[in-house]
Amino acid sequence: LIGLVFGLGVGLLLRYAIPIPEFTTTVKGEEVKVPGAEYIGEHIIYPFGKAFVRLIKMLIIPLIATTLVSGVTAMGDPKKLGSLGLRTMALYLATTFFAVTLGLAMGTLLRPGVGVDYASATADDAAAVQGKLKAAEDSGSIVDRLLEIIPENPVAALAAGEVLPTIFFSILVGIGILLVGPAADPVRKFFDAAAEVVMKVTMLVMELAPYGVAALMAWVMCTKGVGILSNLLWLAIALYASCLLQIIFVYGLLIVKGILRLPLKQFFRGVADAQGIAYSTASSSATLPVSISCAETNLGVDKSVAGSVLPLGATINMDGTAIYLGLIALFAAQALGIPMTATGYVMVALTATLISIGAAGIPSAGLLLATAVLAVIDVPPEQAIAIIAFIFPFDRILDMMRTLTNVTGDIAVACTVAKWEGELDEDVFRSEAEL
Ligand code: ASP
Repeated sequence: LIGLVFGLGVGLLLRYAIPIPEFTTTVKGEEVKVPGAEYIGEHIIYPFGKAFVRLIKMLIIPLIATTLVSGVTAMGDPKKLGSLGLRTMALYLATTFFAVTLGLAMGTLLRPGVGVDYASATADDAAAVQGKLKAAEDSGSIVDRLLEIIPENPVAALAAGEVLPTIFFSILVGIGILLVGPAADPVRKFFDAAAEVVMKVTMLVMELAPYGVAALMAWVMCTKGVGILSNLLWLAIALYASCLLQIIFVYGLLIVKGILRLPLKQFFRGVADAQGIAYSTASSSATLPVSISCAETNLGVDKSVAGSVLPLGATINMDGTAIYLGLIALFAAQALGIPMTATGYVMVALTATLISIGAAGIPSAGLLLATAVLAVIDVPPEQAIAIIAFIFPFDRILDMMRTLTNVTGDIAVACTVAKWEGELDEDVFRSEAEL
């Protein structure tokens, strides 16, 4: 947290308080002048942040593959996986339902899109958004995407860093080890030890977290500044407020106080590291190694649950994104003067839920998929692109908050499922968090 605030302060100072001369660089063969703070942010500060992000991303696949296999074998009985899976999915859907409702309520109450001149998006942003949307469309139908969860070649899936196929294969390997029994002991022991080693490496990388987080925050502030405040003030307020409500009421009061009946303070202490990383990287996937270590070390979630529930959550449970999608739909409807009917609300809620499940845990994934939500309320495609391009340059600051919410939701669900499965060490949960 200190790194976060420090980076924020340094970035704001560089951008607004210290006069730095413009730099001249070459973009696509042409000489352009860039404000000094932006240049420093992008070329001097960002590499440090990027190094940190690469370090944690490096751990994602090794961590899923080892923790998940070791987690499944620790369950002892393949049948337990069924109840764990059902409970996890039910909770993920329930929390997303609250999130969409909150987003729609806030969007109706605060009316973030009224009077917004979305047509001022630059041609460059519109072209960038169009390019990304095209790439997303080319990725095939829903059935194809579901089929891709089954890897044709697990080694290729691991090498390509594909999360869902890796989860799928690791669960099957775990089940295989359980079914073979004692003869598979050497393999089981190998995965147990490997999981510990990868977790240790995660802890080592986490030592650098304050510096990485500071660099990422300083970079965001240097390059984007607080311009968001004038352009998308109400959208930002609505999103931050809804996310806070989701965190405090749904995860805090409902789940931690209501279902788990454990001290809230300890929960928020325990998730703080993961929240800091989520906020600064804007990627649930990149935060995954930290979410797993927070859940296990600080909150006492057994590795069989943390290793299976969290990787799944990082890819399919995105409550912050669901809130955002509902808000964007209302934002667009208000900006364009499209009346919202009751059916419109229901359609937006359903689509937002589905898209939040399908969105990847990477920066701006939620915004780029918003075209589908806009389509259900009959926003014409060109207008949809104009609106998304209008928000695009400022999305990072919104993305940081929704990712923080996504990750907090994953960990709250992991704690709950662990408690139901008898896999939560409450003494660790209650003790001081000390990652
Ligand atoms: N960046 C978010 C995440 O990784 C997804 C989004 O764009 O909403 O969780």
